[in-house]
Amino acid sequence: MQAEIIAVGTELLLGQINDTNGQFLARTLADIGIDTYFQTVVGDNPARLKSVLKLAFSRSDLIITIGGLGPTEDDLTKQTVAEFIDRPLVPDQTAMTNLLRFYEQSHRELTENNKIQAYYPEGAQVLPNDDGLAVGSVTTIDDKTIIMLPGPPSEFQPMVLNHLREILIKLSHKDHVLVSRVLRFFGIGESQIATKLADLIDTQSNPTLATYAKDYETTLRLTAKAKNSGDAKRYLDELEAKVQQRIGAYFYGYGDNNNLQQVVVKELIRRDLSITAAESLTGGLFQSMIAEVPASSQVFAGGFVTYALEEKAKMLGIDAAILHEHGVVSEMTAKLMAEKSRQQVGSQIGVGFTGVAGPDELEGQKVGTVYIGLSFADQPTQVKLFHFPRQRNDIRVSAAMAGFFMIYQ
Ligand code: ATP
Ligand code: MG
Repeated sequence: MQAEIIAVGTELLLGQINDTNGQFLARTLADIGIDTYFQTVVGDNPARLKSVLKLAFSRSDLIITIGGLGPTEDDLTKQTVAEFIDRPLVPDQTAMTNLLRFYEQSHRELTENNKIQAYYPEGAQVLPNDDGLAVGSVTTIDDKTIIMLPGPPSEFQPMVLNHLREILIKLSHKDHVLVSRVLRFFGIGESQIATKLADLIDTQSNPTLATYAKDYETTLRLTAKAKNSGDAKRYLDELEAKVQQRIGAYFYGYGDNNNLQQVVVKELIRRDLSITAAESLTGGLFQSMIAEVPASSQVFAGGFVTYALEEKAKMLGIDAAILHEHGVVSEMTAKLMAEKSRQQVGSQIGVGFTGVAGPDELEGQKVGTVYIGLSFADQPTQVKLFHFPRQRNDIRVSAAMAGFFMIYQ
């Protein structure tokens, strides 16, 4: 659907006021997903308004006029449009009752001109004016729609928001559907995604792609517009395939209301896989994040926070000599922490975290160096080395999340 906005008013042409209504309406249309192709400003002149209407009807499906619905002599939009679409103007009873009451209560003289405010093109849908007297209208002519709205922003904005918006949404749905899909990534920044998908982001207008960075994760929203939801889904599938091909290694899930630990813990619950952890630099953060997820008690019975070397030895039953030999921040330590915690608790998965959160180096290892061990029963333990670039707390959160991501993979 192609929309065109026509702002009527000589004061707009003279630059005495800004077309803030046009701007407000354009933004409302864009939010709904209706494309505005033209915005025209024309003076209070019936002949010129007619020529603008003629052009608009030749190139747009949805035409919306603003202004000129009032009672004064220069307010000619309603009469001009009615003439142009060849529909008589008829009174709306509710609006007329309100109008008569208003003039009676305020002891003003009621002229025929004043009454025109309660009129609308026959067959149109009336848009009530809760803040004034001039009604708006929505008229359908074959496959085109013309809408008239009042000029004063205090009447215009509420009419758009409270009466027109719903109608526009329905109109736009007749024409197309908008379907969105949110992809969630971990371990890749927003700018890196933007670089890897630059050509897709730059060239695609449908579906569109937008990145959002949030709490150590990056999400990508794909939105497709199509005649029906089946087509929209197909467009999204095609684009997602391209995205997954490039950054699928960082992908972990779908949806707006899912974070990494939720996705992972829910999956563990679904597959009935129990988990535990031994944490050094993360100090229990990983286990706390497990506990955040409802029903996590089904898979998480408990675990260890082993900060000092002695506690790693004592609580986990690791030979202190091995820790001394390999270093506390080492592949071997992460491996043993994962394995021993799993064995001690008797769970199917054990995760070990050891690293340097800073601010000082440890055992000659740089701040941000983290080893994470992941032990599954009946599988060789994997250990990954990370170098997180940021501050102490960021390093701890990044490490905990990296643990979840390793399980996900
Ligand atoms: P009224 O009943 O007040 O005459 P109307 O529907 O006839 O309203 P206009 O006479 O065109 O509308 O404009 C009334 C006032 O509304 C203008 O003086 C101006 O302040 C404001 N206005 C009109 N059009 C716009 C616009 N496009 N953007 C912002 N303000 C506008
Ligand atoms: Mg006016």
